[in-house]
Amino acid sequence: MPEQTTLTDEELRRYARHISLPSFGMEGQTRLKESSVLCIGAGGLGSPSTMYLAAAGVGRIGLMDMDEVDASNIQRQLLHGTNDIGRKKIESAKDTIHNINPNVQIDTFGEAFKPDNSITIAENYDLIIDGTDNFPARYLINDVAKILEIPNVYGSVFRFEGQVSVFAPHLDGPCYRCLFPDPPEPGAVPD
Ligand SMILES: [Zn+2]
Repeated sequence: MPEQTTLTDEELRRYARHISLPSFGMEGQTRLKESSVLCIGAGGLGSPSTMYLAAAGVGRIGLMDMDEVDASNIQRQLLHGTNDIGRKKIESAKDTIHNINPNVQIDTFGEAFKPDNSITIAENYDLIIDGTDNFPARYLINDVAKILEIPNVYGSVFRFEGQVSVFAPHLDGPCYRCLFPDPPEPGAVPD
C-alpha cells in the first residue's frame, strides 16, 4: 500500500487559501504535493513557472540547465539575482525556490536535455515544462513526452509576442510536431 500523503501544520497554514477554495481543498493540495514537474531551462520561461509551482506546493521539481547566470539574464529570469552572476543557474534557482517554499524537493541536472539522457530523466516526472530556447531540444522534448505519455507544457517568446500551449497527444490532442512538422533550417528562425 502506498503511504498516505499528509500535510504538516506549517503546510496547512501556508496553503490555507488553496485549502479553503471550493473544489480544490485538501484533496487538491495533497495531489499537488504528490506531483512532480520537470522544467527544462531555468531562464525566462522556467523562472515564473517553477517559482509559482513551488509556491503552490508541487512536491518535487526537476530543474535542468547547463548555463551560468549572466548579467543580461536578470532583467527577466527572476530565479536569479545580482549576487548570482557567475553561479550555475541550477544552484541559484534551487536557492530561490527553497526560499519560496522549503517543502519542495528539488532535483538539479546541470546538463543539456539530450537523446541519451532524456528518457531516463523525464520518466520520473508527471509533466514536462519546455523552457528551452532552441529547436533541437524543443523537438526532443515533444518526442520524449509523447513516448512517455506525459503532458508537455510549451512556451516561447520573441520580442513582444508569445505562445503557450499544453500538448497531450496521449489524451487525443495534437503534439508540437502536428503544429510545426518540420524544424526550421538552422539560422532561419531566431532561437
Ligand atoms: Zn503530433
